[in-house]
Amino acid sequence: MTPITDGASAGDPRWSVPYLRLAEGLVLAGAKAKLIERFTELPHRRVSVLYQVFRGTAPPAGPIVQGSARHFAVPGKHTSESLRIQCAIFLACYERMGKIAETPLQRGWQLLAAFNAYLALTDKLHATTSAKRLDINQAYALLTYAGFLAVRAEAELQPQRCPDCRVAYPVAVHEPRGKQNCPVCAINANCLRLAGQASPSTREARAPRGK
Ligand SMILES: [Zn+2]
Repeated sequence: MTPITDGASAGDPRWSVPYLRLAEGLVLAGAKAKLIERFTELPHRRVSVLYQVFRGTAPPAGPIVQGSARHFAVPGKHTSESLRIQCAIFLACYERMGKIAETPLQRGWQLLAAFNAYLALTDKLHATTSAKRLDINQAYALLTYAGFLAVRAEAELQPQRCPDCRVAYPVAVHEPRGKQNCPVCAINANCLRLAGQASPSTREARAPRGK
């Protein structure tokens, strides 16, 4: 896949093939119509046709960005530690992808390339555990809140590196930092706790009691 650089234009014949590949890739990834239109300059009608051809469905509707920065960073009912780790992995893929060319990449292209790298990287984990992955629309929303890792000063999500395991993960700047500890360390602590509960002495102690 030829990288589309930031100065490229969909109307330029030299870029028409890479832009078509980008549109196809975004359709196959399940991106919302508005997202595809924004990054490929295709009219809605063409995006709908591509969806019919490649997926046999209409494109998903709705606003491109849903939820809030908090959803990607603060553990709670809808935000598991596992989801926060997925966010960290995807952002690392996006950042790494930005370094493959000397000139800045077009954001849509970088999003798709990073998303495909993220899927490949998490494939085994996804196949062997119930780990839920981000879809491309969530990945786009995450990037939006993270300022596409470019305009970091104003971004609602900022990267934070864990002093213990060195993993960088996003934190929501307008939410209490105390609630946003490292998700990798949180999962490790939970595993240790479960292992402790499963040890023979603990099992005995936790055996069901008669009523
Ligand atoms: Zn950690």
